[in-house]
Amino acid sequence: MIFDGKQLAEQVKEQLREKTAQCKSQYGRVPCLSVLLVGDDYGSQRYVASCEKNAAGVGIDCRVVRMPQDSTEEGVLRTLQQLNSDSQVDGILIQMPLPKQVSQAKVVAALDPQKDVDGVTDTNVAQLWKQKRSDYSRFCVPCTPRSAMRILKAAGVGLDGRNAVVVGRSNIVGLPVAKLLMNENATVTVAHSHTRDLPALLRSADIIVAAIGQPRFITADMVSDGAVVVDVGINSDPETGRMCGDVDFAAVAPKCAMITPVPGGVGPLTICSLMENTLDCYLRKINL
Ligand code: NDP
Repeated sequence: MIFDGKQLAEQVKEQLREKTAQCKSQYGRVPCLSVLLVGDDYGSQRYVASCEKNAAGVGIDCRVVRMPQDSTEEGVLRTLQQLNSDSQVDGILIQMPLPKQVSQAKVVAALDPQKDVDGVTDTNVAQLWKQKRSDYSRFCVPCTPRSAMRILKAAGVGLDGRNAVVVGRSNIVGLPVAKLLMNENATVTVAHSHTRDLPALLRSADIIVAAIGQPRFITADMVSDGAVVVDVGINSDPETGRMCGDVDFAAVAPKCAMITPVPGGVGPLTICSLMENTLDCYLRKINL
């Protein structure tokens, strides 16, 4: 089964459209996401443009605050404080990377956890690691891990007691995915660049989540028959220049019970999760 992330994303967007329309009629305004975009990173510009388009499509008010590449740290923190205290703004996405003169840690520390739509603040990270069951209504978990879990659920993949290997231990993908899998009672191993004999470890996995950032790194000999593979990677194929994942899709797919392609797998759902997290922030504020 090759998982169709675009189709699931359309279903999620349809549900979001209904919910935001309901918000408007019940509470008089739609949810509002503010994106803080500092600098001119090409990938960030593209992602933010896609956020604007998708937000408009589901009825979320998306306000992009653009700041120049040479912005000072003080200037960025001041702008963030204004967004924190703006009662019309429900969610804030700080688009990474920030220019080098701006400390990512300081900016994240200054973000209001109630508006943290990508689950990056210490408060929300702590919430995720403390909870034993995934409950997305109380705080935001990072968007990409939320999408990976949604795919596994939509594909009907049983997680209870299964062996999952997450390759990658970043704060934004690998670690939160690992915790969310544990919350579903999977037995999780987190692999990284120091892992010994990764191919053998991967062959023991029922479920593989690849979040490495290396084009077509996971090859057919590393995957056992019937495995489930979620490929989070977004890379440029060194041969064709096209987008590709961390998994050698053509060779690995025939062995899998389920695999997500790149593009068209996890990616389309990540923006959906961002919109869902924005709606959740809005609803939490309304229900305070
Ligand atoms: P990071 O660079 O922060 O982390 C990469 C992880 O992979 C690290 O933990 C690193 O190990 C591990 N790694 C690197 N090389 C190897 C190796 N040879 N063997 C085993 N492990 C290795 O990346 P991110 O987590 O931010 O992103 C991962 C991928 O996911 C990227 O391709 C990124 O573009 C993509 N991505 C996709 C999103 C989506 O919505 N689809 C969203 C966010 C990211 P170590 O810790 O030891 O260095």
